[in-house]
Amino acid sequence: MGASTLAVAYLAAAVLFILGLKGLASPRTARAGNRYAMTGMGLAVLATLASPQVADYGWIVTGVAVGGGIGAVLARRVKMTDMPQLVALLHSFVGLAAVLVALGTYVTHRDAGALNALLLCELGIGSFIGAITFTGSVIAFGKLQGLIGSAPLRFAGQHWVNLALALAMLGATAQFVLGGGLPAFVALTVLALLLGVLLIVPIGGADMPVVVSMLNSYSGWAAAATGFTLHNELLIITGALVGASGAILSYIMCRAMNRSIVSVIFGGFGTGEEATAAAGGEARTVKTAAVEDAAFMLENAGKVIIVPGYGLAVAQAQHATAELVRALETRGVEVKFAIHPVAGRMPGHMNVLLAEADIPYDKVFEMEEINPDFATCDVALVLGANDVTNPAAKTDRSSPIYGMPILDVHRARQILFVKRSMKPGYAGVDNALFYQDNCALVFGDAKKVVEGLIQALEHS
Ligand code: NDP
Repeated sequence: MGASTLAVAYLAAAVLFILGLKGLASPRTARAGNRYAMTGMGLAVLATLASPQVADYGWIVTGVAVGGGIGAVLARRVKMTDMPQLVALLHSFVGLAAVLVALGTYVTHRDAGALNALLLCELGIGSFIGAITFTGSVIAFGKLQGLIGSAPLRFAGQHWVNLALALAMLGATAQFVLGGGLPAFVALTVLALLLGVLLIVPIGGADMPVVVSMLNSYSGWAAAATGFTLHNELLIITGALVGASGAILSYIMCRAMNRSIVSVIFGGFGTGEEATAAAGGEARTVKTAAVEDAAFMLENAGKVIIVPGYGLAVAQAQHATAELVRALETRGVEVKFAIHPVAGRMPGHMNVLLAEADIPYDKVFEMEEINPDFATCDVALVLGANDVTNPAAKTDRSSPIYGMPILDVHRARQILFVKRSMKPGYAGVDNALFYQDNCALVFGDAKKVVEGLIQALEHS
């Protein structure tokens, strides 16, 4: 394939990626967006394989077979609720690849006597962004997978240590550009690896969604830096698209959780261990409701708002929920869904689940749109959500989720919480809503309870 054909193919792929991103902005166009992006990626891979730069297919085929094989097995096995860990792990690979490409390019160019200051600058930046992304993502993976405690690890003078490390890393990069050779490259990379660890360990569980999307952004910039090293325009464009969209997503999530991005990056929040301990001291009672009682309340309601959360995903209760909606609607009940931006374990998690069960988009509302409706709703049915409804986010300054906007479930006339136990949610904090007079807990697995509700409605 000639250079100009390759350029045209890359341009077409870049346009398809942009159309893909645009499509992903709304659930209605997300499927088409995915198709654009997949076509773009297919085109990009074929064009790259046909490019004159590729001299040997042996390593490529081996890499695709081994990596693709492992990826296919992992993708089939991974549960939707474990997706953030998988994404964090994949980001770490992008980071590691950026470091290895920089090292390989340095060695080959040094041996060919083809080094220059601009290339060294690209290699240094590519390696340190990649190294930070690598260890940062590994730590995020460990926290999300529960291999390392999600509690923030802090020590005195942490920010100064990070600053000193960052300055030392930039110093080593400057030395590398000025001809410091392999020792300077190793120094800047090791310092960046350490910085990646120290930047992520102080970040608590409740802020993990932002961290995952921030690492997504870093991995994009690492890929863009690799694109400069390899003189591959498409990798530069794709990396920049991922980097910019990840940064915008982090900003949107910070706004949704009322966090300052600077505080999240520098580990400004706790995990809730303190708050759980405090709540543990009080013995408070909760009301419970049998499935039949809950069905009676739902059937007699004029308006019901369903709040899905992580537990709905664990129970895979989306299809049963869709059936419940139909059963209620045939009995004249108006049903809406309220989606919190960080409900579940990844951005858009609930939207994906509801779309999978063909729940119409016009019943699904984002937090700002639906919050005023809670005051006029008869029953708020909370299916496996917890943190996103917790009023402590508004009232308790010591709570790790303080400042996060919540769904105003507490305003509903009657609240029904479906969960299996009194255990807290992801942030590890107790929920004062459980003890409210207008709240009843329906204990059980979300799918089983919803199926029970449908049966009870049929027999009523
Ligand atoms: P939470 O994690 O706060 O609560 C989930 C609730 O579901 C738990 O209280 C649990 O209680 C219940 N549950 C678990 N399994 C089942 C089941 N099979 N059936 C019924 N209930 C079940 O979830 P939310 O969605 O309210 O909040 C999301 C949290 O996750 C936030 O703190 C957010 O910051 C964090 N997060 C979000 C990410 C994102 O991008 N969306 C990424 C990473 C973290 P029990 O065990 O008693 O059943």
